[in-house]
Amino acid sequence: MCSSLPIDSLQSVAQEMGVDVRSKAFAREMDARDKLAPLRDEFAIPKAQDGNDAVYLCGNSLGLLPKRAQTLVAEEFQVWAESGVIGHHQHRHGRPWVTIDEQVVGKSATIVGAKPAEVAVMGTLTANLHFLMVSFYRPTAQRYKILLEKRAFPSDTYAVKSQIQFHGYDPTTAMVALEPREGEYTLRHEDILAAIEEHGDEIALVLFPGVQYYTGQLFDIQGITEAAHRKGCYAGFDLAHAAGNVPLRLHDWQVDFACWCSYKYLNSGPGSIAGIFVHEQHFDNPALPRLTGWWGHEKTTRFDMSDEFTPSPGAAVYQHSNPSVLNTVCLLGSLQVFERAGMEQLREKSLLLTGYLEFLLQDLVQKFNMKIITPRSPSERGCQLSILLDCDVDTVFPQMMAAGLICDERKPNCIRLGPTPLYNSFTDVHRAAEIICRVMTAASAKSA
Ligand SMILES: *Cc1c(COP(=O)(O)O)cnc(C)c1O
Repeated sequence: MCSSLPIDSLQSVAQEMGVDVRSKAFAREMDARDKLAPLRDEFAIPKAQDGNDAVYLCGNSLGLLPKRAQTLVAEEFQVWAESGVIGHHQHRHGRPWVTIDEQVVGKSATIVGAKPAEVAVMGTLTANLHFLMVSFYRPTAQRYKILLEKRAFPSDTYAVKSQIQFHGYDPTTAMVALEPREGEYTLRHEDILAAIEEHGDEIALVLFPGVQYYTGQLFDIQGITEAAHRKGCYAGFDLAHAAGNVPLRLHDWQVDFACWCSYKYLNSGPGSIAGIFVHEQHFDNPALPRLTGWWGHEKTTRFDMSDEFTPSPGAAVYQHSNPSVLNTVCLLGSLQVFERAGMEQLREKSLLLTGYLEFLLQDLVQKFNMKIITPRSPSERGCQLSILLDCDVDTVFPQMMAAGLICDERKPNCIRLGPTPLYNSFTDVHRAAEIICRVMTAASAKSA
């Protein structure tokens, strides 16, 4: 495959403009040409200490507030205040609460590449992961293992361990936890496939992230799924860092199930409502047990209040409770903006932004002995770059924040920068690189 790197196309644009790719003028001109640039106005951008917009590169942790969400929530308060319980069925803005999830299911399905019936918007990520494992982790004496990565997000590891114990197995033997090779930071696809090949007959479930939260590595979801299926294992994915970050095609890739939170790249607000995917090939699978609640009941007869559970068609059967309307409309506000942009166009800009950041940091990385642990290949990462510093992150992180760069730190020495194409600009990336340069230079002068 011969695809040129994003920085190559930036270089040629700079040449054509007749400006230095490292200059602020270049960043400004890129913003002027960016068709997605107006979307920034849809978001509330936090301020730095000096009163100017901060450089917010933390969408990987908590997406910014879409201004529409504020309007939508205000409308829900209005209906609640005026109508109380009547709002469940009559709603002056056309969003009756009993079917509020319908506002976001189709748009969420578009983001993850699913049919609408394969997606439900419900609950929270870790809880949903448990509910899905109730269905898809059915250990037997021969097949009882879960393959995951050793450095998975802790909540996922806890969930897996406790599921294994819940079924009476021992995590020390039932967890196959993959680590990068000695001296490496990310997993090689061939090593994942080899592990599936080696342990596959004993593996019930292969559980991977779409994008690794710490390194930013994007996994080959389709390849992992195919390998798992060849060995008779289910393949599930935690898309917390993938949904809204990279294009996904869960249906075509034959993924069995997936779950994600929506407060990271999907900007629905802290702790807001999450999403699940169940492939349609499992809709009528009687071998899959499920924990149910009234909201999973078929909706036209849900309020008959029968003792007999009639399943909703599709992934909606996994819903337990009536969803938080305030959370759901926050998500709606964000998904309306996504709809204007389109995931393919966002990805195109995302590749440029991250390639630009990587390029601007290259000299600094050399000079200050830092290491970018995110894969270099754009096809193996989302927007995030994870950087290991040659010093304690606490000695520079507060200075970066004070200078107006909002990113996140993972002790002892990692910072993660996630330029997101919905609201970040090329100027943001340029400013971020400048701030990091200034802070690192000052810190090394001090320690010298
Ligand atoms: C953000 C994140 C979580 C957080 O879980 P919640 O249940 O939403 O608190 C879990 N797993 C992964 C992989 C994450 O990135």
